[in-house]
Amino acid sequence: MTVSFMDLHASQAPIADELRAAFDRVLDRGNFILGEELAAFEQEFAGYCDSAHCIGVGNGLDALHLILAGMGIGAGDEVIVPAHTFIATWLAVSQTGAQPVPVEPDETSFNIDPARVAEAITPRTRAIIAVHLYGQPADMDSLRAIADRHGLYLIEDAAQAHGARYKGERVGSLGDAAAFSFYPAKNLGALGDGGAVTTQDAKLAQNIRRLRNYGSDQKYVHLVKGCNSRLDELQAALLRIKLRNLDTLNAQRRTLAQQYCRALADLPGIQLPQLNAASEAVWHLFVIRCTQRQELARLLAEQGIATQIHYPQPPHLQAAYGEQSWPALPLTEQLSGEILSLPMWPGLDPQPVIDALRQCTASLTR
Ligand SMILES: *Cc1c(COP(=O)(O)O)cnc(C)c1O
Repeated sequence: MTVSFMDLHASQAPIADELRAAFDRVLDRGNFILGEELAAFEQEFAGYCDSAHCIGVGNGLDALHLILAGMGIGAGDEVIVPAHTFIATWLAVSQTGAQPVPVEPDETSFNIDPARVAEAITPRTRAIIAVHLYGQPADMDSLRAIADRHGLYLIEDAAQAHGARYKGERVGSLGDAAAFSFYPAKNLGALGDGGAVTTQDAKLAQNIRRLRNYGSDQKYVHLVKGCNSRLDELQAALLRIKLRNLDTLNAQRRTLAQQYCRALADLPGIQLPQLNAASEAVWHLFVIRCTQRQELARLLAEQGIATQIHYPQPPHLQAAYGEQSWPALPLTEQLSGEILSLPMWPGLDPQPVIDALRQCTASLTR
């Protein structure tokens, strides 16, 4: 029995004919950039997120970068980021010329710790980026209170959390702006790269719409030095179909997470993810902790169970950020040595994973 870490087949096979029809529609129409599919998707995704505006862009990293650029953040500014995140959150800040300021996570949620955010604020701080890591919303009320007290923007990195809710409200409607990625493996994935920004702020939406298209609202009239980062018609057409299934697929992930939590609760040597009662997580990843992580991953692999690590090395220890010395981030470093992501995808049968974990944890503690 082998269980792959990720399998898109079960979620895509039932809609394959619809996806092909969308491809034909775009092919026949012959308009591939900034056309009616993108306009329709932007409206539908804004509606899904309970947000006023959506701007489709090239990928999740660009979505983050364009939000910061659209807010006028750049050289000389500081932006607070989680120390424990995918490196894209940091890269977006660096691309603007601003300085990422890492803050350690809360140990139970893996998300940025609001108490430590307050300590990291300086006169140069302009914004806080909250990542809804692994699909679990960050503590937005505490972060909003801090942001308001210091006059900072609050940005959501929602690349792992399409459809999640915090106190009943959709991710993507909580911050001053939110960045989404439609990388194929995300909860809402395109058949290639894609991304989007959502915001309630009409002026910011206009800035980002301009920046993604060469700084132009009108052909050959360039108001600012923009870039080229547009969600193309084909991906938008495919995403419109996939968006209709998102709630169903997220519900399947929630059921899997409950099955894991129930079946693994009594196992020795591992720590399960803890749920924040205020939020409805969408389980992009199901991440456990184990002090003998390497050994556990090896034993599971022997039983045919694929696992991954998100992420094995935090951004501040990467060569890309080696030119600078960073403050001690002991919790982040400890987590990166103990976390292990179990298979989590709609259509997965969790039983073989559960059975293998039962056996493997028993031989760990022996
Ligand atoms: C995937 C991801 C991104 C970047 O998205 P891309 O579309 O791959 O550029 C940013 N932040 C987080 C937390 C992610 O998981």
